[in-house]
Amino acid sequence: MITITSDKINTFSQISYNEFLGTINFHQLSCSCGLTGSLIRHGTYRRSIKTPDGILRICILRLKCKHCGRTHAIFPKLIVPYSQMLLTDHISIIKAYIAKTPFEIIMVTNEYIDESNIRYIIGQYLRHWKERIAAFVFSIKNDIRTLSEKCLCTFKKQLMQIKCTPNILFC
Ligand SMILES: [Zn+2]
Repeated sequence: MITITSDKINTFSQISYNEFLGTINFHQLSCSCGLTGSLIRHGTYRRSIKTPDGILRICILRLKCKHCGRTHAIFPKLIVPYSQMLLTDHISIIKAYIAKTPFEIIMVTNEYIDESNIRYIIGQYLRHWKERIAAFVFSIKNDIRTLSEKCLCTFKKQLMQIKCTPNILFC
């Protein structure tokens, strides 16, 4: 997968995702085999994302490397791979947990997020991310783009990504 951290997309819908794709020069992207300019369009697949407007089934573009055959989903920085919740919601939950403020406002803002989602996110943060962030001297208080780029650069993972599939940064 490839995560593009440009600020061209700040809310998530099929329309904003398609517009975001329109801003990308695919010839500039690199594959994990090291080649640049070898990626061609290779269909789409559907991802469910919980947004305040409902659980959206978004068509995500996949690219394939002409050289090594690997495929890469194209994500904006808002996407946490394998999660239905956006990175902005992950960060809001972690910040509320740290500040010991109520989670109600998060659930009111997005009614598709419930208490079990919040417990899960906090558990994953404590198990996989809290010490990692502290060890590399950055803070959950950084802005979303900085957090995303630091995690992709340092760990080859989006912030809060759990599975180890390499996630390539393009900014
Ligand atoms: Zn390749």
